[in-house]
Amino acid sequence: MPTLTVVVPAYNESEVLAVFHQRLCAVLDTLSLQCNVLYVDDGSGDDTWAIAQSLAAADARVGALKLSRNFGKEIALTAGLDHVEADAAVVIDADLQDPPELIPQLVAQWQAGYDVVYATRAARAGETGFKRFTAAAFYRTMELMSDVPVPRDTGDFRLLSRRALKALAQLRERQRFMKGLFAWIGYRQTSVSYLRDPRKAGQTKWNYWRLAQFAIEGITSFSGAPLRLATWTGMAASIVAFLLGLKVLIKTLLLGNPVPGYPSLMVMVLFLGGIQLLALGVIGEYLGRNYNESKQRPLYFIEEAQLPGQPADASGTLHTPATEQR
Ligand code: UDP
Ligand code: MG
Repeated sequence: MPTLTVVVPAYNESEVLAVFHQRLCAVLDTLSLQCNVLYVDDGSGDDTWAIAQSLAAADARVGALKLSRNFGKEIALTAGLDHVEADAAVVIDADLQDPPELIPQLVAQWQAGYDVVYATRAARAGETGFKRFTAAAFYRTMELMSDVPVPRDTGDFRLLSRRALKALAQLRERQRFMKGLFAWIGYRQTSVSYLRDPRKAGQTKWNYWRLAQFAIEGITSFSGAPLRLATWTGMAASIVAFLLGLKVLIKTLLLGNPVPGYPSLMVMVLFLGGIQLLALGVIGEYLGRNYNESKQRPLYFIEEAQLPGQPADASGTLHTPATEQR
């Protein structure tokens, strides 16, 4: 029988985790697959880990990983996917915004031969108009700038086949924009659309500051377009400045040199100064990313692990090929 592992990153999700698990299990029981669940506790401050551990203790098909601190969802996901040995993996949020009831549809597409089956939101219930607007603006910008098309209105909720997992495991970059990485690996991809529910309980961990960071991350990880934009703006400004200089020179030669010109001078100086700072900022973004990558740090550390169907191992050393690579 083919195997499937459901990877669930969880950060301070103690309020929903048990409910989530019930709903997930109800769905998994209907599948004719051998299913496992792997909870990844991303350094939660509440008792998410205790709950995950008790779920794992109660059922041999459930596993739990505890990261050494909060690394962020993208890394938590990566840690989970690194420990999947099944034929396919499903990635799903713990807050029930991604309905587990959609998993059979994802599985059906996988069995029809697709490698990446992603769930596309048809509607975002319970989110403010502003959030919806910014999300839409982000996806459109990504689409314009990115070298690989990142599907619109798609979260991390998706299914990955064995070979897609293997491909993804080779992308060890530190700045992880998962939606982009999922798209970048290629293979046969398809989508299934669903209605995104509001969060059942607890708080979203994304404030607007984090979302803005995330947007910059997405664009700079997958496109050099802002750098090129800086170059083009610089060129355009130089041409304008040159023409203006020419005009001033000719005017001085023909009409002599009366003193006025201070306002236009000031405008030019400020304009060019602004563009230069902007371009420097853009270069800085990329340089910073380069710096982070060049440190070659491991992506995460595991504090405790109880993999599905395996005895507990509290030493944090896991003997999976993915761990040995690092
Ligand atoms: N999450 C995580 N680490 C973090 C932040 C979030 O593992 O640092 C998990 C969280 O527990 C949830 C999923 O990522 O299962 C999505 O997070 P959230 O619901 O806060 O994001 P949103 O749905 O608002 O985009
Ligand atoms: Mg959520």
